[in-house]
Order: sequence, then C-alpha cells, then structure tokens
Amino acid sequence: MLIRNARGWPLSGEADGDVELADVPVIDVRIGGGRITESAPGLRAVANEEEIDAGGCALLPGLHDHHVHLRALAAAQASVQVGPEQVRTAAELRSRLRSHDASRPAGAWLRCVGYHESVAGPLDRWALDRMLPGSDRPVRVQHRTGALWVMNSAALARLGLDVDGVADVAAADGAAAGAAGDESGVERDAGGRVTGRLWRMDRWLADRLPARSTDLTGALAEMSARAAALGVTGFTDATPGAGEGDVAAFAAAVADGTIAQRLVCMAPADVADIPVVSVAPGSAPGRFSLGPVKILLDDDTLPSLDDLADQVRQAHAVRRPVAVHCVTRVQLVLTLAALDVAGRLPGDRIEHGAVIPAEMVPVLCGLTVVSQPHFVAERGAQYATDVAPEDLPDLWRLRTLIDGGVAVAAGSDAPFGGADPWHVMRAATSRPADLGPGETVDPATAIRLFLGEHTAPGVPRLVAPGYPADLVLLRCPPWEAVRSLVSELASELASDLVAATFVGGDQVYSRYSG
Ligand SMILES: [Zn+2]
Repeated sequence: MLIRNARGWPLSGEADGDVELADVPVIDVRIGGGRITESAPGLRAVANEEEIDAGGCALLPGLHDHHVHLRALAAAQASVQVGPEQVRTAAELRSRLRSHDASRPAGAWLRCVGYHESVAGPLDRWALDRMLPGSDRPVRVQHRTGALWVMNSAALARLGLDVDGVADVAAADGAAAGAAGDESGVERDAGGRVTGRLWRMDRWLADRLPARSTDLTGALAEMSARAAALGVTGFTDATPGAGEGDVAAFAAAVADGTIAQRLVCMAPADVADIPVVSVAPGSAPGRFSLGPVKILLDDDTLPSLDDLADQVRQAHAVRRPVAVHCVTRVQLVLTLAALDVAGRLPGDRIEHGAVIPAEMVPVLCGLTVVSQPHFVAERGAQYATDVAPEDLPDLWRLRTLIDGGVAVAAGSDAPFGGADPWHVMRAATSRPADLGPGETVDPATAIRLFLGEHTAPGVPRLVAPGYPADLVLLRCPPWEAVRSLVSELASELASDLVAATFVGGDQVYSRYSG
C-alpha cells in the first residue's frame, strides 16, 4: 500500500523542535509486511499497489492508550452510567434506575457504573432498595474508582451473601462456601449485617455472576471499533490480577480480530506468555504481548517494604518490568524505596502518579510515569474538596515531569476516565487556575503522550521506515490538528479529525466507508 501526499508527523529527533508545523514536508509512505518500508517524496507506485491520497493531511503513528481496562470499558459502554455528568442528584439516580428496571427483562442484572458520593451520598443496600421499592431486580453499582461495588438486597441474595437479612457467610450456598478467605472485602455494619458494599472483589464477583461471554465478545468488538474511529491502534490493559484464562482470552480476541488493535496485557509474574496463533486470515502475529507486572497498592493495606521489593524482584526475575499503581504520596514513596532495594529494570512504570512532590521528580528519572491528565478536568471540582490542601500543588504533574527529564505517557484509564484520547490531550493543554495551571503542556507534546512505543511508552514512534504500520491519517494538516486541541469550538473537536486508522498495515477504520 502507498499513502501519497501525507505530512508525516512528528519528525524525528531534534529537527522536530526547529521545524514549524507549516513546513512539515509532504511525503509518500509505503507499507509492506505490516511495517513502513519507505518514506520519501515522489515514490513510484508498483504494480497492483493500493494507493491512498492523503491530500497533504497529517499522518501520525497510531495512538496507543497506555493504561486502560478493556473488559470493564466494554462492559461500561453496555452499562448504565450513574455518576456525574449524566446523573447529579439522588432524584436523577432514582429515576434512571426505575426507567432501566422497567425496560429490562425480568431477573436480568442492572449493572451501573461511575457512581460518586456527590450524587446521593455513600450508597448501601438499603439506599438502593429504597430506590426500587417492590422490585426484585438485582442491582449492582460500581464506584467511580473501581474499588467498590454496592449491591442491593436482591443482588446479595443472588450472590448467596445474605440469605435472610443477617450475614452468615458460612451458611451461604456452595458458591461462597469454602472461599471465606476471599470475602474479606464484604463490609458489615456494627450489627454484623452485610451492608451491600463489596471492596475490591471483582475477581470473586466474576466467578459468581452469570457468564455472558457472547455479550462480552460483542461489547469488546464494539469497544474496539469505537477506539479505531478515534485513531487508537494499541492498548495496554492494566487490570490487576489477570490470570492465565484472562490473558488467553485476550490473546484469542486479538487473534480472531474481535480486538483490532495491538494489545499489551499486564499480568502477574507467574503468568506465562501465551504464544498467539493467528486465526484471522491476514492478521499479523505479534499483535498480542504480555506487559509489565501490575502491582496494586492501597493505603489501607500497604505491603511492607520487603514484601513490595520481593514482588518487584519476582517480576524482574522473569524479565518483566513492574507497573506500580501510585495515587498517593505514601504509595509513591514506598514504591521508589522498593525499587531502590530491588533494583530497576528498563520499562518499570509508575501508573497514575496522581501525587508527586516536587523533590521526587529527579528520583523518577529512568522510570516512566503513565498519567491521566483528563482526571483534572473530569474530577477537578471533587479534587478541590477531597484532596488534602498540601497535596494540591503536587496533583497530576505533567510539565514539571517532562522538564525534569522524566519519561511521561498517557492512558485513559477508561472506564474510570473518559476513553477518548483526544479529550485527554485537550485536558493536558489546559488546567483550572486552582489546580496547577503551570502543569499544562503544548498541544504537540500532548499528542506525543500517546505516540510512545507499546512496550516502552516513553520512547517515541515515528512515521519512518522500520516502524510498524500502526498509523492514523487525519483529515487536516498537522497545524490544524494542533489548533483543534485548544479550540473552544465543538465543531473542531480533535476526535472528529480521524480519516483512517491502520494497524500493522491493515485498515481498521475509514471515515469514508461505512
Ligand atoms: Zn487503572
């Protein structure tokens, strides 16, 4: 395939900073065997070569979402949103639950996501029961952080967690029996009653909720298609605790084309790499790979320094870097100490880096911070009230990290943040006055947050020979794409600028063909 008259961007190396966007040269780009084989002006077409005329528009490396939770995203896109912006008050929550209760088949679960206390305070089973009086609909509501599920009484009964209003886990049915150790996340009130609040019990829930694998396949395919239309050519799934089965299922979804993008899957150190046999005709091998070992930290259950250092060593022993979830000061301090004890491996990452004190920026050099700049825009109002005032200046740093020589990349963290990378970029270019306006970056830098290597997010990819042909062709030249990121006009939204998306040379989205 030959893509003609494209402005390949960003340019390589230092040249980039010196060249005005208007002077980015127009080139032809040849693709073969899943890679870019040539890029130069005036290439001659060979026999039977497919040609696309880019008309002077920008051709970028495809966007890689460096931190996302694909199954949860696919499920969320098929779920009821019950958080701000869609739902803001208890009355709105009640009416949304009632309308979905009325429209769903009897007995089907109602899966709700995105909840935050600003809507109707802390939820529990009784609050949910009051919203659907007289209904036996099982309802589960996920908190926006992903750490908590709240069940109504009908849902608890289905799960065998509450037979007659009083908790008696030992007496619950077979599903729960013998697995009491897994139930430490089941919250109880002072009287020992199950409140309906289940903390970090996704794995436990997944084993007990009705399997809907065909639904999930459809939802994953839809999720993949939406992302392709936004120019996304790769994902790094950062879901903690992925088992062999999860990894194999992802590998299969990539191999059969359910997921059209390249996929890097984080998994524990004892999960072995799955050799992917491509079953879809023409789909390239190498689109699936095992990523870093995800380590989740929680302030309430922090491991000892020795324990964490051991986890890092175990990952490094199988030549896998770590990706440590750090959203608080203490988590970051502990992680950096553990990396000191265990040593670092290229590719070690800090996920989120939500709070980074200025004095720690130099220590982060050599690591990659995978940030969510859009959380400031999506959650700014709550940060102002929920975050300790002394942490506010250290919240979601961007500019100071980049200026300090720290490799930074971005991930949507969808469904816990919005999935559109162009919104993430836009958020990176503007911050509210009370939340570190000095941490913004220019639009070109914001775009580059998604242009890093799949396995080394801090290393830029280019539109140049040898690179995989994961590409996004825009409908405009580079300078207009950059302008659209800072434009106030909704009609100029950058996510509307994608003309075509290619993964390994295969066209996975075209604006002009269905
Ligand atoms: Zn995440």
